[in-house]
Amino acid sequence: MKQLIILSGKGGTGKTSITAAFAHLTAQSELAGKVILADADVDAANLELVLQPKLIEQQDFKGGKVAVINQNTCTSCGNCETVCRFDAINYADGLYVIDPIACDGCAACVYQCPTQSIAMQEQIAGKFYFSESRYGPLYHANLFPGQENSGKLVTLVKQRARLQALDENRELVIVDGPPGIGCPVISAVSGASLALIVAEPTVAGVHDMHRVLQTVKHFGVRAVVCINKADIYPSGADEIEAFCRESGIETVGKIPFDLTVASAMVAGEAVTAFRPESASSVAITQIWEKIIPSLINLESKVS
Ligand code: SF4
Ligand code: SF4
Repeated sequence: MKQLIILSGKGGTGKTSITAAFAHLTAQSELAGKVILADADVDAANLELVLQPKLIEQQDFKGGKVAVINQNTCTSCGNCETVCRFDAINYADGLYVIDPIACDGCAACVYQCPTQSIAMQEQIAGKFYFSESRYGPLYHANLFPGQENSGKLVTLVKQRARLQALDENRELVIVDGPPGIGCPVISAVSGASLALIVAEPTVAGVHDMHRVLQTVKHFGVRAVVCINKADIYPSGADEIEAFCRESGIETVGKIPFDLTVASAMVAGEAVTAFRPESASSVAITQIWEKIIPSLINLESKVS
């Protein structure tokens, strides 16, 4: 079983559109029925918007613990407010109350309360979902605003996808990765067979690509690069290609700017299914053909 992760140094590079197109193209190939999809961008999961899957299962995701005051036994001594270094405890309307967003879960207040009125409670930090899409099973999740532990939720999404792939002898897990280089990216990259980096030919895009390539390299995962909206700034695209050539990283294709991608998103469809003859669909199909058959050792291409 192989894992392909699609990454970018920042959000909005077209990563999810490419993931959705790859899911569609894979479902048209010999790999039909042998792929699992995972959306590891738990802070802003949107693969489901394109694939419109049928929800099968959902679970609460428990994050870290936060302090909660029992107002029935609190004597309003104020010790907890004094000891809290995160300014999470406030006095209002005659009561000490804890702001769960500001609370860091250090538990210092618990030990300073003379009446044992403070307890640490697990918080529901998000939701985990399993759905069936028209291109295969999809694991995805939603971390609530202000919550931490996104890396843990990414790991859960990937673990469940991987387990189903192993149980059912599926050959490929396609992961829509989180943007950036932080904790969720590190969780998402772990165990990947190949990372497809989606780069944009802008100054910021080139800088972000360098950072994500360094992260992927650090974890020993092979990376290839595709350039999205390559024609909006050709010299930036040239710079990316030159950098990749010098670094021994394969540039697997260039996707032109194409409004069809946005139209496909609005229609809730992968661009390769929505308008296969469009310039972006042709380029994405060529990228798919360049990397997927050799990753899985397939003989044939998209049918
Ligand atoms: S657990 Fe720590 S951060 Fe949270 S309210 Fe208590 S002292 Fe403040
Ligand atoms: S330390 Fe305990 S008793 Fe004192 S204000 Fe805080 S919760 Fe109430």
